[in-house]
Amino acid sequence: MVSIDRSSSRYVGRFAPSPTGPLHFGSVVAAVASYLQARSRGGRWIVRIEDIDPPREEPGATSAILKTLDELGLEWDGAVRYQSHMSASYEYALERLQSSHMTFACTCSRKKLVRGRYPGTCRDAITKDLTGKSIRVKVDGSEIAFNDLLQGHYSQNIEEIIGDYIVKRADGFYAYHLAVVVDDAADGVSEIVRGLDLLSSTPRQIHLQNLLGLTTPSYAHIPLVLSQSGTKLSKQTAAPAIDLASSCAVLIRALEFLQQAPPPSLYQQTRNEIIQWAISNWNIAAVNGISRAYPN
Ligand SMILES: [Zn+2]
Repeated sequence: MVSIDRSSSRYVGRFAPSPTGPLHFGSVVAAVASYLQARSRGGRWIVRIEDIDPPREEPGATSAILKTLDELGLEWDGAVRYQSHMSASYEYALERLQSSHMTFACTCSRKKLVRGRYPGTCRDAITKDLTGKSIRVKVDGSEIAFNDLLQGHYSQNIEEIIGDYIVKRADGFYAYHLAVVVDDAADGVSEIVRGLDLLSSTPRQIHLQNLLGLTTPSYAHIPLVLSQSGTKLSKQTAAPAIDLASSCAVLIRALEFLQQAPPPSLYQQTRNEIIQWAISNWNIAAVNGISRAYPN
């Protein structure tokens, strides 16, 4: 791991939503946390639209997401990056993996997985025609461990839990793990602040960073906002889009969920004053890392 000078303006953070629907409160919390972590360090904050899974995308979602960020006063640096424009970089990364014999073509359906783990069925098959086949990357039995700023030490043996995993899908789309590590490297992202649902994906991303010779950023996985019944708020479970009638109220609710203790006087302030207070007073160590409902 490369150490990062946390005080310098080389800090780059990012928010990377997929355009499967408008932002719900849980995704706003993730945006606010990554924004404040970057801005409180004088760093850059970029926005990336993860639009590499067209079957799951919703027309108009990208513009709705960007409009929400804008209305919340979460200003990003530079142009928005679109994963759909990055295919050449993903292909280059895939070719690097292929040329080091770390990949193989797979024809297995999901039914071949054993308790969610790929058992290596096609690993040693010699396949010349890749049409209609997924590409998996080989894993070995080593543990991948990292220290998460909020979740502490996390370790996973990918071979035991997941097995060789997909980097390019049979339908021709690049897998999320490959795309995300290529993009984070291209943008020089130094720390990834994102939802806890991605914690168990992180070892695969570190594995790919290692294979591709990319720097591993720091990670901070923030708690998820759960529904009152304890499930994750998500676009898939039809979580309501946030009501932007009052962007101030949404920001304060996000700060409360993140345990930043916004003072009552802040409720009378303008949106920009709330953002300024939040940047000046941001303390990631105060965030309780456990997912929970809000309000509870
Ligand atoms: Zn297979």
